[in-house]
Amino acid sequence: MSQSDNSSSPGIRIAGVSKVYSGTSRPAVDDVSLDIADGEFITLLGPSGSGKTTMLSMLAGFVSVSGGKIEIDGRDVSRQKPHKRNLGVVFQQYALFPHMTVTKNIAFPLQQRRMSKAQIAAKVGEALKLVHLEEYADRLPSQLSGGQQQRVALARAVVYHPRALLMDEPLGALDRKLRDELQREIARMHRELGMTFIFVTHDQHEALTLSDRIAVFNEGRVEQVGTPSELYERPETLFVAQFLGESTCFRGTVDVSAGVLRCGGFTPRAPRLDARLDGSDGVAVIRPERLELHTDAAAVPAGHNQVRGTVTEIVYVGNHHQVGLRFPDGTSGSAMRLAGRSLPAVPGEEVTVSWDPEHQSIVADPADEPTSGRAAEPLGAPAGT
Ligand code: ADP
Ligand code: MG
Repeated sequence: MSQSDNSSSPGIRIAGVSKVYSGTSRPAVDDVSLDIADGEFITLLGPSGSGKTTMLSMLAGFVSVSGGKIEIDGRDVSRQKPHKRNLGVVFQQYALFPHMTVTKNIAFPLQQRRMSKAQIAAKVGEALKLVHLEEYADRLPSQLSGGQQQRVALARAVVYHPRALLMDEPLGALDRKLRDELQREIARMHRELGMTFIFVTHDQHEALTLSDRIAVFNEGRVEQVGTPSELYERPETLFVAQFLGESTCFRGTVDVSAGVLRCGGFTPRAPRLDARLDGSDGVAVIRPERLELHTDAAAVPAGHNQVRGTVTEIVYVGNHHQVGLRFPDGTSGSAMRLAGRSLPAVPGEEVTVSWDPEHQSIVADPADEPTSGRAAEPLGAPAGT
């Protein structure tokens, strides 16, 4: 992770922040550093229990830091009260005041800031327009759908133009269709407001769709920070490769001088190996759309890595087929074939599988992690906030 040392630059800086809850020994957040640029949409992505809510709560000031510091525009806010930090917050539970109308809910933070009635009316009007709820101004929360309630929560969180908007799984309680709709709304709000958005989710699709950058959390640590395509195309750890998207993972021993990974029975070429991996266990990670399937080994393009595999299943998923594969060393894999293209084989048949080594990533093999082809699917995991 590259970090600039200019601590007066605008933005939000998380510098070596840890959290150990009292009565526990393992840190919930463990030495996390992250620079968030002004106006950026950044997502903290990770499985349940990886420390996302704890990190967001420390940013907001609801949970104290055990070590490290948080800076906003160069000022250390680590010990500041939440309201002094000027951040908007939205959680999974709508947390609207049930006895107040939509208008009164949105006006609440402005009244706390002692604005004039005219100013409040103008700002509430703007906020209602932003979330397309002008016609619902006089309703009570109980008279709104879940998605509408969450729009009110969003409007209330940005109505006073906070320095940044923090959201913890705000769409977690909504069904798929509403979630997609609100995702687009949040993306539009980000464009219109130009505000820094810090978003927490365990849903990789949500993270890939919305974010300028994603920080992948695992057991309290940031495994990798990057743009969606960097994380997808160039995962630096097996955890990132398996948490974001599917991949085929071949295990072997890294041989830097030969430029290969020595797997059982075949040795895929691996350009630009990290010298620190030499002699250690490594994993070649290849995304499904990068695997090519051939009935005729002579058709393999020059320079491709290749290995024989057996087709185990073919699943039609609308615009493409997912082709399940099994290799002689026991590795299972997954390839993608666009619908409309003919399938090279039926389940039970052998094919030659090839890929351009430029499209594979070699990552260290953490000895105790499983490397079966399918990623640990984060969808549907409990969304603890
Ligand atoms: P996430 O939001 O990624 O699911 P959390 O930040 O909620 O993760 O939790 C991270 C870890 O900290 C978990 O192991 C969780 O059990 C623990 N934890 C969270 N809140 C508390 C608390 N108030 N007291 C003690 N442990 C906590
Ligand atoms: Mg959480």
